[in-house]
Amino acid sequence: MTHSSFRYGMADAEQASLRHRLLRRPWFLPEGRRLSEEVWQQRHFGLTLLLWAHLPVLYAFALFRDLTPVNAAVQVGVLLVPAVGASLPSLSRNVRSASASLGLVIGASVLVHLSGGSIEAHFQFFVILAFLTLYQAWLPFLLALLYVVGEHGVVGALDPKLVYNNPSAMAHPWRYAAIHGGFVLAASAANVLSWRLTEQESLRDGLTGMPNRVALLDTLDRTLQSRGRRSTAVLFIDLDNFKDANDAFGHQVGDELLIALSRRLGRQLRFGDELARLGGDEFAIVLTDLTTEDEAKAIGERLLVCLQDEILIGDFHLAAYASIGLAFAEEGMSAADLLRNADLAMYEAKRDGGNRLCEYRPSLHTAALRRTELEVELRSALELGQFVLHYQPIFDVANHELVGSEALVRWQHPTRGLLAPAEFITAAEQSGLIIALGAWVIRTACLQTACWQAEYPELRKLTVAVNLSPRQLVDRALIGTVAEALHDSKLSASSLCLEITEGSIIKDFEQTLPVLNALRTLGVSLALDDFGTGYSSLSYLKQLPVDTVKIDRSFVGDLGTNNPNSQIVTAIIELAHALGMSVTAEGAETSSQLESLKAMRSDHAQGFLLGRPMSTQMFTEALTTTDRFAVAVPVPRGTS
Ligand code: C2E
Ligand code: MG
Ligand code: MG
Repeated sequence: MTHSSFRYGMADAEQASLRHRLLRRPWFLPEGRRLSEEVWQQRHFGLTLLLWAHLPVLYAFALFRDLTPVNAAVQVGVLLVPAVGASLPSLSRNVRSASASLGLVIGASVLVHLSGGSIEAHFQFFVILAFLTLYQAWLPFLLALLYVVGEHGVVGALDPKLVYNNPSAMAHPWRYAAIHGGFVLAASAANVLSWRLTEQESLRDGLTGMPNRVALLDTLDRTLQSRGRRSTAVLFIDLDNFKDANDAFGHQVGDELLIALSRRLGRQLRFGDELARLGGDEFAIVLTDLTTEDEAKAIGERLLVCLQDEILIGDFHLAAYASIGLAFAEEGMSAADLLRNADLAMYEAKRDGGNRLCEYRPSLHTAALRRTELEVELRSALELGQFVLHYQPIFDVANHELVGSEALVRWQHPTRGLLAPAEFITAAEQSGLIIALGAWVIRTACLQTACWQAEYPELRKLTVAVNLSPRQLVDRALIGTVAEALHDSKLSASSLCLEITEGSIIKDFEQTLPVLNALRTLGVSLALDDFGTGYSSLSYLKQLPVDTVKIDRSFVGDLGTNNPNSQIVTAIIELAHALGMSVTAEGAETSSQLESLKAMRSDHAQGFLLGRPMSTQMFTEALTTTDRFAVAVPVPRGTS
């Protein structure tokens, strides 16, 4: 695939890399973090203010030292140029900080001149050096050093009394200028060292000792500025199911695994690439000086393979799988943008099942924006009461009697109309809103069913089935939510059935089993929804505390067409009955399907033939008609 960022050839890449090497800062000068614009502005403002404050103070001191007002103004006036330079917003950051730094050092030398070269006045230089650390750059220190040596040497030679007050220094101004320079250098080094050490500590990940997210963004920022965007890429690595390993083997093993894996990743890097731990089980690598796109992909693939090699931690043999996102830098892209793109690509790799490398494409960003918008909209939808429940009737197959309903949520969207769960349930799960939405569904379904039961005494056993999402099953508050809904609605627990899917239980069997048991202790029944589409593990089925198996509509749809699914449905029904469970067949659309279900001894059926999901009002109306859900009476095939 050709990518716009790789249109240049080998020669360009070599040139870029050569330019980078030439422009690279000398090794002995500290690099440091580039301050954010906001922080720099604040600090620069403070230092500029300090510089301006020197003017009246030094002027007053000059008068105190018996200088004439004009002479004092001339002496102190030299500070005006750097002070104005530091205050001009049109100048670049470097020029303004250099002006302020030089101004402050000149201020210190004016103090020395005015005090007749007194040694005490020299201390002011060291105070200024400490202040210059605020810029977190080496240039101010370098300027201070050059100024001190030059000024002491030149002025010391022309008028020694202005800078020195001992005879030896006056006799050898340059020698003493070098000595002063030596002290300034030592003080600068101490300041730089303390700034860099503190900074490094805050840029390191505590567990692995490698750079953290802030450090990575810094490096990336610098790389994008110095090396051009076209040969830079980011790999975003997230371990698959690390949480499971952590839970299963303990945090100690989890930590050791992370350390071992980070070393492994580190060994795959080329010279100049930077690996960072972003937090948890997330890592990122900045790849620089790439010559082709394929080079980055090959590195990503190599990482996937190297992680899978078995690793021995304590007594455990572990292997790691990861989802990796790859994004290439493009013109005008910031470090944060590039990292975010790689992150989006990583999520795509996760969605595709993990253990793979995915490359960023712009549609991922649009989709992510849509998801975020949807999440925001969902949140307000709940507050504004835009969700409604529709109820689909469930019938006894043998005698066509209504036994209950399944509550199905819909979103009455102000502009898009009535939305089906497929449009928003996933987003609600991802954002965690499903907990609040699910609680509302449980409560509303219980209140409505209790209402129907009270209104129609012959329906006092009417049940309601509510779908639970996987996320609700691991929510500690679920039991309380269900108990409260039952209590407040006065619905008997046996009238409530909670539908769960196999996937949500099997994924975290150990954790969900006690929840299921607790729900049953409350007296509610449990149904296994969409049976046949997931694992359909028979051994699990035996262990699960469920009362009902709901056969997925994909099996029911083929009934009566000589399809092998007929045998599967028969087998599921027999198995469920053998385990003491009842069976509800979903998606009965034709009377012949219903006949087949009857012949196979399915207990209950639900489907468009018998009744579509309908609003509370429609459901109530159907209840009031004398034949109650007229459609429930089998009608000739094809007329549903
Ligand atoms: P489900 O629990 O399997 O619900 C049955 C779905 O099948 C419903 O779709 C229903 O309209 C549809 N259906 C019923 N009979 C027939 C039929 O004869 N033919 C066809 N083609 N379809 C039929 P719906 O309402 O769009 O719901 C889809 C899924 O959304 C549900 O599948 C359930 O998994 C989920 N869902 C619905 N409400 C909730 C809720 O409150 N919470 C959660 N977590 N999930 C919900
Ligand atoms: Mg269901
Ligand atoms: Mg279902």
